[in-house]
Amino acid sequence: MSKPVIATASLAGCFGCHMSFLDIDAKILPLVELVEFNKSPIDDIKTFTKPVDVGLIEGGCCNSENVHVLRSFRENCKILISVGECAIMGGLPALRNTIPLKECLEEAYMASPTVDPADRLIPNDEELPIILDKVYPCHEIVKVDYFLPGCPPSADLIWEALTALVEGRPLNLTYDLIKFD
Ligand code: SF4
Repeated sequence: MSKPVIATASLAGCFGCHMSFLDIDAKILPLVELVEFNKSPIDDIKTFTKPVDVGLIEGGCCNSENVHVLRSFRENCKILISVGECAIMGGLPALRNTIPLKECLEEAYMASPTVDPADRLIPNDEELPIILDKVYPCHEIVKVDYFLPGCPPSADLIWEALTALVEGRPLNLTYDLIKFD
C-alpha cells in the first residue's frame, strides 16, 4: 500500500517551525516509514510531483510569491495545516501591519542608519515579488483545515497531529502539547 504523502513550505517565517518538526529526533525514522515526503525544503523537492495528503505551511503571506505558493499548496494538498503563529496570525512579520507599507520601505531602504547614502534605493526590479500592503495569515488567503499553535509548535505537537491525520485518528491535542508556560 502506498504511504500518505506530505509536503511542507515556509512563507514569511523564520524556519523555526521546520526546525521544530526536525526536532522529533529519533522519531524521524518511524516518520519516514509512515509517510513519503513530496515538495519540501526537508528533501529539497521543489515542485509537486503527485497529489499530497497533508500539507504543512509555516509563515504568513507578506508578498505575491507567498500567496502563489500558498494557493498552490491548497490546490495540491487534501489537508492543509497552518503551523505556528506566523501562519496562524502573521506572527512577528505582522508587526509591520500598523505602519503603512511606504513608510516601512522608506525606513528600511532610505532612512536606516545602516544604509550607505550612495545605496538609498527602494528595490523595484520586476523580478522581485510584490510586497503586500500587510502580512496576512494563511486562512485569510485560502481555506485552512487545522491550526497548530506555538512559536514554534513543539515537535511532539507536530508529531501527534501529523500521525493522527495520516492514520485517520481523531486529533487528541492534550493540554501538555499546547500549553506554552
Ligand atoms: S511561528 Fe515562530 S518559529 Fe514558526 S516561523 Fe514564525 S517566528 Fe519562526
